[in-house]
Amino acid sequence: MDVTSTIEISKSAYQNNLTFIRSLIGESCIFSSVIKGNAYGHGIETFAPMAEEVGVNHFSVFSAYEAHRFKKVSNGESTVMIMGVADSTQELEWTINLNIEFFVFDLERLQKAVKIAKRLKKKAIVHIEIETGMNRTGFCVDELKDVIHFIEDNKEHLDVKGLCTHFAGAESITNYFRVKKQIVVYNRVYKFFKSNNIDFRQKHLACSAAIINYPQTINDLVRVGIMQYGFWPSRESQMKYYTKNKINTNPLEPLITWKSYVMGTKAVAVGEYISYGTTVLAETDMKIATIPVGYAHGFSRSLSNQGKAIIRGHRVDVIGLVNMNMMIVDITNIPEVEKGDEVVLIGQQNGITISVNSFGEMSHQLNYELLTRLPEDIPRKIIK
Ligand SMILES: *Cc1c(COP(=O)(O)O)cnc(C)c1O
Repeated sequence: MDVTSTIEISKSAYQNNLTFIRSLIGESCIFSSVIKGNAYGHGIETFAPMAEEVGVNHFSVFSAYEAHRFKKVSNGESTVMIMGVADSTQELEWTINLNIEFFVFDLERLQKAVKIAKRLKKKAIVHIEIETGMNRTGFCVDELKDVIHFIEDNKEHLDVKGLCTHFAGAESITNYFRVKKQIVVYNRVYKFFKSNNIDFRQKHLACSAAIINYPQTINDLVRVGIMQYGFWPSRESQMKYYTKNKINTNPLEPLITWKSYVMGTKAVAVGEYISYGTTVLAETDMKIATIPVGYAHGFSRSLSNQGKAIIRGHRVDVIGLVNMNMMIVDITNIPEVEKGDEVVLIGQQNGITISVNSFGEMSHQLNYELLTRLPEDIPRKIIK
């Protein structure tokens, strides 16, 4: 089967990022690798076993579906924590049976979990999520009495392991007061549980941005997504870290390289239009190359006349509209380009880099979105 592009994942870059993150969170904190969104586009099946090989043993997913995918490839020794969806009886049974941990943020799930745990003669391992101000998921303060009573009444079937919350934008100073307030609410709720004889073994609040901007929130466990993949949660948090630590080189290294190849080349005479419509008029005689990657493959249409690629060590411009399955680049100044030449869409070639950062800026997409939109069917492989 012909594939039109491949994604390479660098193990040494991952080790570099882990070392950096460990230096921020300290030795005793549990590092939970967040692999929702198909491991931020890196591919759960490719990324997770590699992470286990280099010593990661705690993973956070969004759903039971992702937990299934993880379990299929895991070495079986890692802890899995579901932060979002595990609702059907069937999924909860599976989850509890395998000692997979999960967030609870409403009484309904807590009750259902206990019912199933009783039937299975197991304990459901839960993390109580608190609504501290994001207004998404989590128990509100006025529900806590009921939660505490329910936990007390069902101790034999519940292991209330963690107390957690999630910040509403720790990557930007704009949200400073809101995040600060969230921390206050969280601490108050923790004390309230404690005064009711419920203590938690794992307090966790921090995501990547919080580790940088609110290091006081690094607690028993951190849930790290974007930074482990070598990207900053925002340009702002990157700059903040650089300034504070007086550095100017990036301690993070992206894992991902996205490669395709030249499908064909051709000459275009002056006065002709290129690709659909009339966005590009050849103002001189030109040479173009086609690349078999388009918006259906995750190369955003908003990169039309904006995107870059690297061929034979040269940065080239995407010209014209990005099509569903193809794009066109301008190779007028590198006439030696041939059919079959390697094309780098994200990553490095001959010391020239296209970062997802710059790419993301061009397309007004955040790193997060661009990465997670890389289709699951692009083959991924680990490189050194
Ligand atoms: C996605 C997510 C994280 C990780 O966020 P990053 O910014 O990628 O580090 C942590 N916690 C929860 C609840 C999440 O949904």
